[in-house]
Amino acid sequence: MGYAGIITENTNTNVDRLFTYKIPDDMKIKEGMCVKIPFGKGNKIIRGYVAEIYDTVNIEDEKLKYIVDTESGEEVISQKRMSLALWMKNKYYCSLSSCVQCMLPKKVNEKLDYRLSLGENTGIKVKGEKQKQILSEMEGKEFVLLSTLKEKYGNVSQTVESLVKRGILVKEDVRKYRGNIKDIVKKTPPVPTEQQREVLSVIEKAIDEKDIKPILIRGVTGSGKTEVYLRTIEKIISLGKQAVMLVPEISLTHQTVERFTSRFGERVAVTHSGLSSGERYDQWCRAKKGEIDVMIGPRSALFTPFENLGAVIVDEEHEHTYRSELTPKYDAGEVAEKLGEIYGSITVLGSATPSVSTYYKALEGEYKLTLLTNRVNNTYPDVEIVDMRKELKAGNFSVFSSKLRNLTQETLSKGKQAIFFLNRRGYSSFVSCRSCGFVLRCDRCDVNYTYHLKSGTLSCHYCGRNTAVPTLCPVCGSKYIKYFGIGTEKLAEETLKNFPGCRVLRMDTDTTSVKGGHKKILDAFAKKEADILIGTQMISKGLDFPDVSLVGIVAADMSLNGGDYKASENTFQLVNQVAGRAGRAEDKGNVVIQTYSPDNYSIACAAKNDYTAFYEQEILFRKQMGYLPFVNVFRVLFEGKDQSETIRQIRRFHGILLHYNKKGKFSLYGPNPCNIEKLNNKYRWQIIVKYSLEENLRNYVLYCLEKYKEEGNTSTCNISLYMNPNNMI
Ligand code: ADP
Ligand code: ZN
Ligand code: ZN
Repeated sequence: MGYAGIITENTNTNVDRLFTYKIPDDMKIKEGMCVKIPFGKGNKIIRGYVAEIYDTVNIEDEKLKYIVDTESGEEVISQKRMSLALWMKNKYYCSLSSCVQCMLPKKVNEKLDYRLSLGENTGIKVKGEKQKQILSEMEGKEFVLLSTLKEKYGNVSQTVESLVKRGILVKEDVRKYRGNIKDIVKKTPPVPTEQQREVLSVIEKAIDEKDIKPILIRGVTGSGKTEVYLRTIEKIISLGKQAVMLVPEISLTHQTVERFTSRFGERVAVTHSGLSSGERYDQWCRAKKGEIDVMIGPRSALFTPFENLGAVIVDEEHEHTYRSELTPKYDAGEVAEKLGEIYGSITVLGSATPSVSTYYKALEGEYKLTLLTNRVNNTYPDVEIVDMRKELKAGNFSVFSSKLRNLTQETLSKGKQAIFFLNRRGYSSFVSCRSCGFVLRCDRCDVNYTYHLKSGTLSCHYCGRNTAVPTLCPVCGSKYIKYFGIGTEKLAEETLKNFPGCRVLRMDTDTTSVKGGHKKILDAFAKKEADILIGTQMISKGLDFPDVSLVGIVAADMSLNGGDYKASENTFQLVNQVAGRAGRAEDKGNVVIQTYSPDNYSIACAAKNDYTAFYEQEILFRKQMGYLPFVNVFRVLFEGKDQSETIRQIRRFHGILLHYNKKGKFSLYGPNPCNIEKLNNKYRWQIIVKYSLEENLRNYVLYCLEKYKEEGNTSTCNISLYMNPNNMI
């Protein structure tokens, strides 16, 4: 008899250890298998994953329970993936179970069956009654489905297995896969440019020499990075290996997928949140069976069960969506690097605007740096910054500067298309009383309401609450309620007003909530069913419309005022990305950047498309202020229903942090209320802890947190931890 160390599917950190179970004699158990076990006092049957197998254990046999059943005969998670899960558990301070589970798709009913037919050894005599029954069923038939046999004779799996083993029957998988890509058109690849060849030679050398140091491609938009990815994957496939292609979810358009399938045909699969669980599960299974070579998708595609992984490519590596904000709070780039250690796969990071931390690593030699400095078609749009303060002074109160207005008219008259970018949805960003100045806010959150014209409601963009607009001011009773600020909905209205007869499409969370909503809008725009596409950051990347000759960035400084240390980086990236949408074809194209802070370096550098100048300024700021890549920032967030209790608890925790920081090694900031102190009826306070070394910082905070939990009641607050968070809302 053997024993198994099992991780339960319970992700609670209190049960985050291996539980020992007995393996029944007639059960075949392998590491990585999914099993069913009785758990807890009530012996509720739950799922578990076999992490280890032992011959003997130091526990009395009677105290142990048996594994009840296996989910399938195979392992669902390989040893290598299990080691990745262990690494993630420590690095991202979460339970092992949650790491294992993020590697597995949600289990759904498989469209699964087996087709049984007679094999080579049909003539052999059988013993057993059941076997005879089955064979008589087969008579005169080309095949019989296992499900048919089960319906007639009950569970005959074991009997069938033994017949298969002896070559009397042949068993074939007849599963139907959901989510396969259709409409594949093969295309001839272009000949690489000189620069592309140089980058490719670095990548190929790394593959040949099994050098896993990550490679960063800094390449302006349209410089042919994707073509480099395609050729890298080609090479990986030729070696009999597999590749994961990561793209930010919002740029996972039909266009992107098409470029991959036109090269690799049906050996490509896609995974993303718009698919059904069944589709995702089936594509995961295809990967496990070795039926595909490439998986394209957002960060979760990292967990595609490729056991001969050759490369992970991270496009637009600076995108914040590569950092999960849900448990486990992993960073896709870091996991890709770890996969490199485990599988010997290479990691390729690509961006026109690499994150400051990544670029720093490349300059320090931790990554290999390669450059694509020219656009393939060698055309660059004319980029112009418009100072909106001057427009106001000149009496122009419209959202359109005269420059943008003129260029739009010109574009329309030529039958070309334009894109207007505004990173705020809705109609008006705040609503207030003109008499007393009262601003209408969500009473569950510490946030202004946004007015949506179409629904006629006030909406809270944080908790989703919708409410009617009051006719009278709730404070002074005045009827003068006024709308301020502009969102995409209002911009669309203004556009129609200013350019009569033009056709407008709007793309934001409000217009794309239905399945396939994105594709519908983009297809319509590609077919020139509209002249102007208006959108939020959803339209900032991955899109390639040859007829777009004008891009207007309506309010470039909007993201500068978020109070976040990454605000400049985000603004630079966003402006640069959006500007990159213009002049993709022969047409040169224009970009107009409207701003109230034209001298801000992130806007000025983005307009000049000068990454290096931006980086040099930004890295100084980071060094002076003590931020990444020099200092790691760990955010500890307390959330509770009761304000004073939340403050009391975070102060208690702060006391413990102070107690274990006598030498002042770690820098502590707070406790302070968060930028948004109340969210969804919960009060939010935070402490920021900074230190140069990530591991020491993590260990210190986790140790203090353990002490905090030991020393008193902790049930009144929810505590969340974020290492180098995307934002500090
Ligand atoms: P990026 O990913 O850097 O934005 P892409 O790979 O999308 O750049 O390339 C931009 C455009 O140039 C695409 O339309 C692509 O098909 C085309 N392209 C890329 N490489 C070549 C090449 N070597 N020769 C001709 N066209 C190319
Ligand atoms: Zn009022
Ligand atoms: Zn709210």
